Amino acid sequence: MTYLLFDIDSTLIDSSRSGMGAMLDAGRELFGAGFTTEGIEYAGRLDPLIVHDLLERIGVRPTSEAHAHFRGVYRGHLERRLSAPGVARSLPGVDVLLSRLRGERRVSLGLLTGNYEETGCLKLRASGIDPLWFGVRVWGDESPLWPARRDHLPPIGIERFGALAGRRVDPERVMIIGDTPDDVRCAKVNGCRVLAVATGKFRVDALKDSGADVVLEDLSDVTRVMSILMGG
Ligand SMILES: [Mg+2]
Repeated sequence: MTYLLFDIDSTLIDSSRSGMGAMLDAGRELFGAGFTTEGIEYAGRLDPLIVHDLLERIGVRPTSEAHAHFRGVYRGHLERRLSAPGVARSLPGVDVLLSRLRGERRVSLGLLTGNYEETGCLKLRASGIDPLWFGVRVWGDESPLWPARRDHLPPIGIERFGALAGRRVDPERVMIIGDTPDDVRCAKVNGCRVLAVATGKFRVDALKDSGADVVLEDLSDVTRVMSILMGG
């Protein structure tokens, strides 16, 4: 059995940076035109930490109330942005890959993402991907620790795969598929394998240097990707 945890942004889909745009919209609505997301790192990071940084920088105490409020406004703007045609799409190879994987009995599909659940689902659905195709879903606000890091999420995914399978899942049987050194790192520190794809802001060399087991330009060679994922 192979257990797969897919990152969302720049791995499965490209949403034309609508997440960043909607965070900027939310900040401007709540705090005025001076609000900026400039200098805030998004790739590979968890949404709660990004929002924490944004609130702190504008001088708002990042209480759970302030956070929840921002999250709700962000969701509204994201929904609006994603409703424009062509804004979100699956990346090359992804549709075929997912349909093949869903037909494989030896594969258990999962998501591991920095997105909040509701906004991650919005992005996927806008790209033609049903979040429920993935039996295990681990979202950006599920880290039990603070500051929240991606490294905290794979053990939650492994535990959920185990609950689905009714037996303990060996981390070595879990493969994480992502586009950033943070994805690679969260796999490695938890004993998982990792396939990195250069469909985000990081090139093949940078992903190799970060320690990925396999690096591909993208997921378009579905036969090859299947063989990597199935351990061939
Ligand atoms: Mg990503």
